[in-house]
Amino acid sequence: MKWFNHTLIAGAACAVISPPHVAACVAGATAPDWMEYLAKAGGRHIKHRGPTHIFTHWLIAALAFSFVWDYHGIVSAFAWGGVSHILTDALTVSGVPFAPDSDRRFHLFGGRFRTGDPIEYAIAALVVIACIGLSHLTGGSGFAPFFYDWGGLYHEGLIDGAEWKANRFRLI
Ligand SMILES: [Zn+2]
Repeated sequence: MKWFNHTLIAGAACAVISPPHVAACVAGATAPDWMEYLAKAGGRHIKHRGPTHIFTHWLIAALAFSFVWDYHGIVSAFAWGGVSHILTDALTVSGVPFAPDSDRRFHLFGGRFRTGDPIEYAIAALVVIACIGLSHLTGGSGFAPFFYDWGGLYHEGLIDGAEWKANRFRLI
């Protein structure tokens, strides 16, 4: 998928969940491609959509940064941006590797279109429209409809530490 569409999709989704993190999320949404470029510039020969496009790596990184360690949400926004890149590349014909040792390519919805196909722009537009609708529904305040901000409540002193500990892994 083109960077333009990776950027639109990740940027719109992140704007609904957390507007201040859009820049980090967009940087992550293009990372699998620029990391590949950097590796090549550094003289390493790696396959296109190879080691930098492994779905499980990005997913594990995103989950770890979300729940174990993070820096002001920036690192996890970056990693979730990367996950969105892998998922949207998985929609294309060539797909992505699912896990490091799997030769099989991972496809979503059958991997119907090639990179640069007009349908790519249509998908990005749909995501943007859906996100605008979603942010209207939630009042556009950056409140995530799917993620209660337990950490924020804790800092505001609304709940005590024990409650935060019990709920921090609850997403709904
Ligand atoms: Zn890519």
